[in-house]
Amino acid sequence: MKSGISVAEASAIALGATRTLAPESVPTPEALGRVLAQDVRSDRTLPPADCSAMDGYALRAGDAAPGRALPVVYEVAAGGQASRPLAEGEAARIFTGAPVPPGADCVVRQEDTLAEDGQVTIQITPTGGDHIRLAGEDVRSGDVVLDAGTPIGPAQIGMLVSLGRTIARVHARPRVAVLSGGDELVEPDEDASGGRIVSSNGYSLVAQCQEAGAEARNLGIARDTPDALEALLRAGLSSDVIVSSAGVSVGDHDHVRPVLEKLGCELVFWGVKMKPGYPIVFGRIGESGPLVFGLPGNPVSAMVTFELFVRPTLLKMAGHTRLFRPRVEATLAETLEKKPGRAHYVRVHLERDEAGLRARTTGNQSSGVLRSMTQAQGLLHFPADAERLEAGAVASVQILDRRFGDETDPPA
Ligand code: AMP
Ligand code: MG
Repeated sequence: MKSGISVAEASAIALGATRTLAPESVPTPEALGRVLAQDVRSDRTLPPADCSAMDGYALRAGDAAPGRALPVVYEVAAGGQASRPLAEGEAARIFTGAPVPPGADCVVRQEDTLAEDGQVTIQITPTGGDHIRLAGEDVRSGDVVLDAGTPIGPAQIGMLVSLGRTIARVHARPRVAVLSGGDELVEPDEDASGGRIVSSNGYSLVAQCQEAGAEARNLGIARDTPDALEALLRAGLSSDVIVSSAGVSVGDHDHVRPVLEKLGCELVFWGVKMKPGYPIVFGRIGESGPLVFGLPGNPVSAMVTFELFVRPTLLKMAGHTRLFRPRVEATLAETLEKKPGRAHYVRVHLERDEAGLRARTTGNQSSGVLRSMTQAQGLLHFPADAERLEAGAVASVQILDRRFGDETDPPA
């Protein structure tokens, strides 16, 4: 087992042990947030035919001139068909999305015409091709329209159903078992007096899993005995990932590591040179068993270590290739100091001013202060070897807040 390793090494080890999950078929409307497991090749042409982009009149551009009247010989509605080809000197009433009749080569917008007694008077000089959406301008039959590995958002869902794909082949979502350990812990609806505290980690970690697109179960609280912990860990063995919090330090009541070993877990590393969150353990149970992350118990340490190691793992399992949060450069609003040795992940609030982004710490950075997470929009990286970051210096911040940058005012 490796110990006292860097964040980069720990991250590489965890991701190296992570396999992308097998594909499954889901109804396309439920595929939002999933990742395509195979290329999607179209067997359709879209639009299927040349069609009108406007309500107006289909005709031959050469037949029209300002002031010229043409007979309106029939009408084509969206979903309809021309009853016969358009002859020279004729016009057809046409609506947006309707197929352009054979013989016509342009559409003149309704606004550019005057209609009266079965005739339409054209008020402009049209050009061939005007207001026609060409067959196949969106998709041609045979095109690979969406590549394997594409994350599915609303536009991809619209495209899939346009191609007639009501079922999507996507990577499975990782199933995560979350458990907490500690004699002091209670559930939120239980009595939290007399030194007891609510097991918030069980809830914030499940929420972090869900935000990453995983399916998470909260297995609850194990008391600080090896047997209680073993029972709960066993309940998680059928999952893809087990995430526990607390009990991974060196105290007398820290049973996670020995119990994991008893369950046949190969402990790969323990201790990562970071703050918050040094005592994190990572292991795997057999070739096909779950990956196990034993996170520290302090609420901020649990959340930050989840961010750095568990979230990228869950994203990789789900088929994603971009595994890390967006990073921005921000100017420090205050000077930060620390001892060299561990990388610090400082919870910061970001403000935008003329010069760009300014990062201000959220106050008390103790790993027990969950408010530092509730107020944080990002984690500022204070590198392991550095001792001082001056106010005014530029640092890298990974954005945690998915809605960072959302505006209160509407766009122009
Ligand atoms: P431990 O890792 O067991 O030494 O716990 C470190 C600190 O985290 C202690 O103050 C615990 O009370 C706290 N803690 C442990 N588990 C949880 C949890 N599930 N929710 C909130 N705080 C916790
Ligand atoms: Mg404890």
